[in-house]
Amino acid sequence: MTAPGGARLLLLAPPGAGKSTHGRLLAEAFAAPHISTGELLRAEIAAGSELGRRVEGLVAEGRLVPDDLVVEMVVRRLTEPAPVEAFVLDGFPRTLAQAELGYAWASEHGLTFSAVLHLEVPEAELARRAAGRAAVSGRGDDNAATWERRMAEYRLETEPLLGFYRARGILVEVDAGGGVSEVHQAILTALWAMGLRPVRPARPA
Ligand code: ADP
Repeated sequence: MTAPGGARLLLLAPPGAGKSTHGRLLAEAFAAPHISTGELLRAEIAAGSELGRRVEGLVAEGRLVPDDLVVEMVVRRLTEPAPVEAFVLDGFPRTLAQAELGYAWASEHGLTFSAVLHLEVPEAELARRAAGRAAVSGRGDDNAATWERRMAEYRLETEPLLGFYRARGILVEVDAGGGVSEVHQAILTALWAMGLRPVRPARPA
């Protein structure tokens, strides 16, 4: 059994905790699109669109993009070219204002989250991963200074969302300090307990 219309999942975690890795694996398991606001924004920047030009500097510096722009971009992705009923969101909402705007829109459309996964990783491990990623990702915003800023933005703006989703009874805490397949299994187990069953078998570890 899965939620009506499929699973609607949110990954909430600091930079480097594994949102994109687990987002991709979960999208595959639940046969749902993986929607990453970081990737959508980087695509807009690469395409040189009006939105891309407006957000380029902010993304490069690791600062948050204005709420209204991100909300508009996500709503567009969920409604065009065809409405999406199941999804794995990664990177949105990232502020309380985004969460409230998103919740109002989703309630109207019957698309509120089925579960919100908080990936917990010790800060020392995050710092170690950030240093490794900066060396290989090719992302202009992957460097020590912007990592610090993204971390600070996370603590200030995004961590308060944990209380918002805990109060709604859909927050799932996951110890994400281990290996990828171990963490993926832990996520699937937690979702299973909430009645959210993957539609595709997990890949062998
Ligand atoms: P990470 O998970 O590594 O922190 P992302 O790829 O999710 O990075 O996001 C990269 C950048 O895109 C952020 O540092 C921020 O500038 C911008 N961004 C992504 N999602 C949002 C959002 N929901 N609100 C505001 N800015 C965002």
